[in-house]
Amino acid sequence: MKVCVIVNPTAGQASRRPDIDRAIGFLRAPAWDVSVFHTDGGHRGTELARLAVAEGCQLVVACGGDGTINEVIQALPGTEVALGVIPTGTANVFAREMGIPLDPVEAAKSIVAGQNRYLDVGMSEDRCFLLWAGAGFDAQVLLNVKPEAKRRWGIPAFAVSALVTLFRFEGTRAEVVLDGKKLSRRVLLVVVSNIKRYAIFELSRQAEPDDGLFEVFIFQGSGTMTKVRHLLSLALRRHHGSPDVESYRASSVALQSEKPLIVQTDGDVIGKTPMRFQVAPRALKVIVPELEATRRAASPHDQR
Ligand SMILES: [Mg+2]
Repeated sequence: MKVCVIVNPTAGQASRRPDIDRAIGFLRAPAWDVSVFHTDGGHRGTELARLAVAEGCQLVVACGGDGTINEVIQALPGTEVALGVIPTGTANVFAREMGIPLDPVEAAKSIVAGQNRYLDVGMSEDRCFLLWAGAGFDAQVLLNVKPEAKRRWGIPAFAVSALVTLFRFEGTRAEVVLDGKKLSRRVLLVVVSNIKRYAIFELSRQAEPDDGLFEVFIFQGSGTMTKVRHLLSLALRRHHGSPDVESYRASSVALQSEKPLIVQTDGDVIGKTPMRFQVAPRALKVIVPELEATRRAASPHDQR
């Protein structure tokens, strides 16, 4: 099998760089024809993945964080080229959701022994996402985190940014169109999710990444206290019963707002509203550990 590994050498925290070479050694063990490429940390992952597809690779392994995976998948939907993941990022949300081991060597072994699963991909304009799109508060938090702070401090850098954003960011009136059904709300945050996890939180218990539907959460309101309440309810998993948090399922979402809202997909800021999101059902072939492990990992609540 022809395999391309795309390594983001700057993924994760600088203080704990894992032994990637050893992990790649395990990919070579089954006599796979493995080529390794490094991104310069400057979003070359997409370009490298496109080259891998053009050169006839059957498997592209993203070795990095959720941002690296996002770069790589831009080239894959609609092809039969599979995605493998060796997680070396800060949060590794996708790996946790799929039950992919967080140890790089174990992850490489799980790719060799794994099985194919076809997952939905979200499309926003011409970009793909695998985890979620967020408009408003979360994208603003990401915008306020400097890459240097993220590399140095990891997740606490996001907590500091969230605190700053609590006081600076205001909600706005928005129109959310879900499969043609129009809603008008004052929103702080709209999340269009493909998975159960949302950064370090559990957002949606019922999300399935291959059912052709997004889970859509609308966090309503404005003002600092409302934002604090939303964050607390997310952390305590009480947002489901909250009167100003609505959830829906839809395969297409159109969002526009009075004041433009910053939009992120898979943790990277990509633009601002107005924006549309559409499910591409089962458009991405992914190598996951055997299915039972995947199911267990997908229930973060049960793990603790
Ligand atoms: Mg779904």
